[in-house]
Amino acid sequence: VVILLAPDADVVRVRAALQGLGLWTEPVSGAAGAVAGLEVLPHSRAVPREAIRQVSGVADVVERKSPHPLVDAQAGRAATVGRVQVGGGAPVVLMAGPCSAESEPQVTASARLVASVGGKLLRGGAYKPRTSPYGFQGHGREALAWLRRAADAHGLGLVTEVVDEAEVEAVAAVADLVQVGSRNMQNFGLLRAVGKTGRPVLLKRGMGARVSEWLLAGEHLLHAGAAAVIYCERGVVGFDPATRNLLDLGAVALLKHVHRLPVVVDVSHAAGRRDLIPPLARAAVAAGADGLLLEAHPDPSQALTDGPQALDPETLAALARDVVGGGP
Ligand code: PEP
Ligand code: MN
Repeated sequence: VVILLAPDADVVRVRAALQGLGLWTEPVSGAAGAVAGLEVLPHSRAVPREAIRQVSGVADVVERKSPHPLVDAQAGRAATVGRVQVGGGAPVVLMAGPCSAESEPQVTASARLVASVGGKLLRGGAYKPRTSPYGFQGHGREALAWLRRAADAHGLGLVTEVVDEAEVEAVAAVADLVQVGSRNMQNFGLLRAVGKTGRPVLLKRGMGARVSEWLLAGEHLLHAGAAAVIYCERGVVGFDPATRNLLDLGAVALLKHVHRLPVVVDVSHAAGRRDLIPPLARAAVAAGADGLLLEAHPDPSQALTDGPQALDPETLAALARDVVGGGP
């Protein structure tokens, strides 16, 4: 809600009067930098419009148009991913698997592991967005086929990343949930192409993106035709290299409890080390996560990418029992 001011209003006095009613406000600049109105902040008291209009200096009270109406329309609703519901009060969903799809046996062993601990979706990258062009880039289309076969063999859904517009069709043909990575959150051409497929999308937060930008990236996807957007917090760039990224659970609580959107947490890329994954996963669920995206490997010592943060089978099983009540 925005409170519009009369031309001769004394902004300081009006704000003080509103604060007396229990309304916290922030000035909104109009043309030429003058204060045009006051935005009512979310934690204010619910005051009837009429009472606000009576305050001297107030011209009108108007609803501010949301910049992301399609995202807002998802509020309170679960995202449907194959046979799995994410958000909207559904139980916490475990999505797990290796960072990269390395070979068909590795993918198959990963799917068996994920299913055995009560996971619902297999994760694994066929295309890897690597900082260096000399790093392992993924096995591409061949790996997509391994992932789909392994997921089907174990009754799992599949979430996998697309990094390139040219591969969108191929990924959408096999993935139940198409992942857009942190580095591509504002790659608008890719967002449009992914949205056009009509698949649900897992949208990672850009590592330097504000929540407002993340929400609008979701609006791009829905506007292009995505069936649903699941937001995935994976840590933002912090100042301290002690952990790989800075896990922003405040943003998770905001998306879940204020925007009421489906939100999952990738603890693995946030922490960067496996010993911190179990406590951070519990914290993510406490903050409101509807699901967890975790890297796990049948044998982390052999992982081609992100081995130090890959959970071994025993730790994944213990965590799944603890956090999502899954597994034997
Ligand atoms: C991933 O999940 O495989 C990945 C590359 O993550 P991010 O985009 O969050 O870095
Ligand atoms: Mn990884």
